[in-house]
Amino acid sequence: MSKQNLEFKTEVKQLLDLMIHSLYSHKEIFLRELISNASDAIDKARYEALTNPHLHEEDKDWKIEIKSDKEAKTLTVSDNGIGMVMDEVIKQLGTIAHSGTKEFLSAIQSKEIKDNPELIGQFGVGFYSSFMVADRVVVLTRKAGTDYNLGVRWESTSDGTYTIEEYEKKTKGTDVILYIKDEEKKYLDEWEIRTIIKKYSDYIAHPIVMEVERERPIDDPQNDADKEKRIKVKETETLNMMKAIWLRNKSEIEENEYNEFYKHVSHDFTDPSKVIHYKAEGTNEFNALLFIPSHAPFNILFKDFKIGPSLYVNRVQIMENCEDLIPIYLRFIKGVVDSKDLPLNVSRELLQKNRQIEVIKKNISKKILDTFKEMLENDYDKYLAFYKEFGHIVKEGLHHDHAKRETIAELLLFSSLKTPEGQYITLQKYIDNMPIKQKGNIYFITSPSISSALTSPYIEAFKEQDFDVLVLTDEIDSFVFDHFTYKDKTFKSVVKGDIELDESKKAEKTKEQAHFKDLFDVLKEHLKDDVSEVRASGRLKDSPCCLVAAEHAMEPSMEKILKSMGQEVPDNKRILEINPTHPIVTSMQNIFEKDKESQGGTHKEMLKQYSLLLYNQALLLEGSTLKDPSGFAKAVTQLMVDNIKSS
Ligand code: ADP
Repeated sequence: MSKQNLEFKTEVKQLLDLMIHSLYSHKEIFLRELISNASDAIDKARYEALTNPHLHEEDKDWKIEIKSDKEAKTLTVSDNGIGMVMDEVIKQLGTIAHSGTKEFLSAIQSKEIKDNPELIGQFGVGFYSSFMVADRVVVLTRKAGTDYNLGVRWESTSDGTYTIEEYEKKTKGTDVILYIKDEEKKYLDEWEIRTIIKKYSDYIAHPIVMEVERERPIDDPQNDADKEKRIKVKETETLNMMKAIWLRNKSEIEENEYNEFYKHVSHDFTDPSKVIHYKAEGTNEFNALLFIPSHAPFNILFKDFKIGPSLYVNRVQIMENCEDLIPIYLRFIKGVVDSKDLPLNVSRELLQKNRQIEVIKKNISKKILDTFKEMLENDYDKYLAFYKEFGHIVKEGLHHDHAKRETIAELLLFSSLKTPEGQYITLQKYIDNMPIKQKGNIYFITSPSISSALTSPYIEAFKEQDFDVLVLTDEIDSFVFDHFTYKDKTFKSVVKGDIELDESKKAEKTKEQAHFKDLFDVLKEHLKDDVSEVRASGRLKDSPCCLVAAEHAMEPSMEKILKSMGQEVPDNKRILEINPTHPIVTSMQNIFEKDKESQGGTHKEMLKQYSLLLYNQALLLEGSTLKDPSGFAKAVTQLMVDNIKSS
């Protein structure tokens, strides 16, 4: 196939533009990115060589080579890893190969990224950072196990296009050749390269070697003059320490080393919030180095978000992301698990059923949850920052992990009626502060915002009784907390069922129910298509009415979410609760009585109008949309006109 000239996808063009024109600081990270890619490529090849030995008889002296040529002004990063075939090169080096391209495009144009360009690293754009220091980049690559003539040559000057052609490559793996810009020529300097590698890539588990020129005394000096003589020799030096960081002693590791390693495994550009590093001894021995990120990566909600730490067996990477090592509700945790006992050639399918993996998963889940708890107790500000990013994901554990429900519940933070805005309480605190008369229930309201919850009619009686109500604002809340129990206390939605906060008022309510029975029947008749019942309310104080769901019906906010997702939801008619002490209700009762006496029923139409107005108001207060907004507006206007006329 002859040479082809292809265009980069739009998102790559935009990214390159941003890289070249806006990123001025930390340009040296290009080298970290290239070395990181080379190291990943070697990990993949090494694993393939284990599982498919007949395919990979070539060079197994795994290494990353750096070559600086000051005359040609090139810097080359070579690896003898997995390499790429033509299609892979086109896909990997011509597009941004992950889903969410649209989100990516809007993200790179966002203010956050413009102000803080380092953040683009999280999009997996490492390779393109070469163009910050090079005006031309050539990639020579050949997939391990393929013929020499199936190599590929890729070249671009970042002008929006690249060329690609077949290329005969003797060695497997990839060479990335950077033609360094004049103004960046310091990156050809040995000491500069050495410093960057020490700073960012010391932990890389494969040797990073560079040919360097040194002056050495001559081997066999014959006289004193000879002893003084120095000759120039070329030597290959390994620039990195290479010892796998997770196997090193904790006390010897500097924070900076952890941070750099985290960035390598996570593709995040910010430091992690917390490091969890430990060794599990015993029959199932393993080392774990795990990180809690500071920020949720932008793609965490996408289907192709890679879950789980890397799995190593005795320092050999088996899998970059091992889902089976981590429960889904801890999917944001990054890092490495290195097992001593798993077989090296364990396959993906076997992993899923492997008992040792199951044990490791349990062990690390516990360790992570313990770390959260410890943060909550001893470093609240850090915990809060973490919780704001990941709390809604941890919450999923209430649903997925029955055994850990209570532990997870203890980690949750809530806004509540009585908690000042911006502050949070734990469930334990809620329980500790419950008035004696509040028995077995933890009350909650789901609401898109705290301010709208605070003015909701549903919590009037709670305010009056001095009961606290948790305000749940995450979408997932109505799924996990409906009927949830914690320490013998049951979560109860304030918009569901019959709420009787004050036992002494029970008798009174029964009396009121009887007193208003006929009026309620009329209301029900007018609203029969929409409500299942009209009854006196125990939860209202200042508002005339509200809509509530039956005790065992679906939580209304959940119903709304399911509907918005296009799911079929059984049509649950609401109950209209009326506040018997509200003046509008007493007025309606008066009219109703008068009509009964006069037997003419002159206010019939008015009562019907009022029923509809009350119902629509209740719908609005519930946060629902009206069936007939213009009818409602007309009715309100008519009321205003009547009111002015009669005043
Ligand atoms: P990331 O490494 O975050 O995926 P990059 O833009 O750095 O993003 O690289 C894109 C892809 O190109 C990599 O995922 C990998 O598939 C491929 N790639 C890059 N460098 C190499 C290499 N040295 N050897 C093999 N594949 C590579």
